[in-house]
Formats: sequence, structure tokens, C-alpha cells
Amino acid sequence: MEWCLKQPKIELHAHLNGSARDSTLLELARGLGERGVVDFATIESVIRKNDRSLVECFKLFDLIRVLTTDHAAVTRITREVIEDFASENVVYLELRTTPKKNEAIGMSKRSYIQAVLDGLRSVDAVDVDFIPSDVNKANSKKTLSINDNGVTKTKIFVRLLLSIDRQETGEAAMETVKLALEMKDLGVVGVDLSGNPAAGEWDTFLPALNFAKEHELPIVLHCGELPDRLEEVQEMLNFYPQRIGHAIFLDDEQWRLLKLSKIPVEICLTSNVHTGCVTTIDDHHFIDLYNSKHPLLLCTDDPGVFSTSLSREHYLASSAFGLGREEMFEMGKTAIDYIFADERVKKELREIFSSFAAKEF
Ligand code: 5GP
Repeated sequence: MEWCLKQPKIELHAHLNGSARDSTLLELARGLGERGVVDFATIESVIRKNDRSLVECFKLFDLIRVLTTDHAAVTRITREVIEDFASENVVYLELRTTPKKNEAIGMSKRSYIQAVLDGLRSVDAVDVDFIPSDVNKANSKKTLSINDNGVTKTKIFVRLLLSIDRQETGEAAMETVKLALEMKDLGVVGVDLSGNPAAGEWDTFLPALNFAKEHELPIVLHCGELPDRLEEVQEMLNFYPQRIGHAIFLDDEQWRLLKLSKIPVEICLTSNVHTGCVTTIDDHHFIDLYNSKHPLLLCTDDPGVFSTSLSREHYLASSAFGLGREEMFEMGKTAIDYIFADERVKKELREIFSSFAAKEF
């Protein structure tokens, strides 16, 4: 496990609210409990529960939404999530989150994302690079900064994906895509379709996704999380997004098409096993894709909800599928080709991985 922690890593599939620390969620719940907004004991038992089915996970997400849909909470969680990823040597993070509205507290989708950006800016423990270099040349030079003890700070590149929730309307989805396009200069690099896979229809989101495509905004789709959505999987593959998440329930022909298409797949081992979408790790489609040299991105999904980390996911893949340190490192490095940030970032990441390899192998 030690070497998994030490290796530089790239995280491309992490949901902000699914990455929140349990301790923070409990603190927020206690505060709301004291004000009589929620029943703390009930929430505590849900948060502390370990194994959850897919249905239970989405109940938990609804609960987390109640706790965190507040500007200050969003800012805090963003800061903590970035610190947590940086502390395990994640050098590039594409963090996704669903912009939310809550009129009662004056929250719009825009102000929600502003709160996320405030969180990015408020990180002090590590250097956070989140503005594209062509927009802010000064930022691109900020490669080293020194902390109070005179030690060079670790650096993490962070970019944002705005998620469309499958429970939203087509109009709300379009609003998210337009917001993402407007916020490209602030480090937003794409859109994601996620949320309860049993909810919503592909056609509802298609106009917004087509609009994103017309404007060359990269798109990632949660695909094949339920066995009875094969038609939708087909539509998704035909749509040809830049990346897909999970890809669990595909029929044989769709599996063949996926491999032909070379659409990169974001794999979340612990999440898939915990939710029961994959029976055991030995049955996971990771190894088939790996052996076929299919573009593969090892990710956490929701490190808070599934009590995992990217280092643990690397360790799990290594021990379950018999992959050694160098194989894991090489697989992690190929993720650079599939990130949505610009060439400057890719170049810096290649340098980080090369200098690590020169020292370690
Ligand atoms: P948020 O977007 O609120 O920052 O992160 C939590 C949300 O991400 C959840 O409410 C849900 O919409 C989405 N999400 C997290 N994990 C999964 C997953 O495994 N599958 C799908 N389809 N959506 C997820």
C-alpha cells in the first residue's frame, strides 16, 4: 500500500459531495440537528453504515444534499476534498459536482459553483492550479511556493466538471451546460451526466449534451450502471462521448463496440463492488479492458461514501489482478492522455511522472 500512496496519481472520476469527509458531514448534521432541521441520530446511523446497495447510496446522496447545500459548506468541503486528494499524491484532479439551486438561501447554480471556486482558492496547505494557462499566464508560472516552514508546497492541478443530475429537467441540464461554457476561463473543462441511474430518460438530456458537443465541451457519461438500460447504453455509445464511467451492464455486441470505439472507461472498483453492481472484484471487467489495452482510468467515484482513496483503488487493482508497481505506474500515467486540461498541464504532468520514474525504477 505504501508504494501506491507514494506514486503520483490522476483522479478523473470523483463526485464532490461523495468525497466529503464523514467527520465533516457529521458536524454539519449535528449543527442542523441542534436547529431542529434534521434528526441527527438517524443521519448518524446512515453516515456510519458501511456497505450500501446502489439504492441506499442514492438515499445517502439525497441526505448529503440536505447537509451540504449551503455556500459555506460547499466551500469547506471543496477545500477538504482537495487537501485529501493532494495528501495521497494525486497530482491532477478532475472534480465533478452538480450545480444546485436553493432559492430559500439565495443559491443559484452559478453561486453554487462560485462557492466551489472559493473552496479551491481557500486551500492553503498545497498549491492549487485551477485556471487555464492561456487565461492567466501568471498562474502558469506559479509552479513552486513555499510554506511557513520554508518547505516547497506540493502542487495539485484541479479542474471542474459540472454534472447534470438525471432527476433534472432538460432546461436545467441546458442551464448547467451554458454555465460550464461560461466558466471555461475559471477551470471548468467539461460536463458529466450522473445521478440516480434509475431516474430520467436519455432524450431529456440529449439537447443539452448536443449543445455541449456543438461547442466542443468535453462530455463524460455514467453508462451501464443498471442491467435494464441496454437501449440507453446503445444511445450513449452512438453519442460517442469523450469518456464514460463504469460501463458495467453492456451486452456482448455493445462490449465489442466499446472496445472498437476506444472510448476511455473510468473504473471505480470499490464503488462497483459495494453497490453490488459487480458481484466480486474477481468478476470485474477491469481486467478484460486492461488485457485488451483499452484506455482505462482507475478512479474512486465517491471516496467518502465508499471509504476509499485513490491509493487504495490502486492497491486493490494491483492485488486483485496481479499487477506490479511499474505496471500500475504505467497505467496511471496513460491517464494524462485523457484529461481535459490543456497541453501545458499535460506537459507538466509528464514531467512529474518521468522524474518519479527516474528516481524509483
Ligand atoms: P455532487 O454532484 O452533489 O457533488 O456529488 C454527489 C452526486 O453525484 C450524487 O448525488 C449523484 O447525483 C452523483 N453520483 C455519485 N456517485 C454516483 C454513481 O456512482 N453513479 C451515478 N450515476 N451518480 C453518482
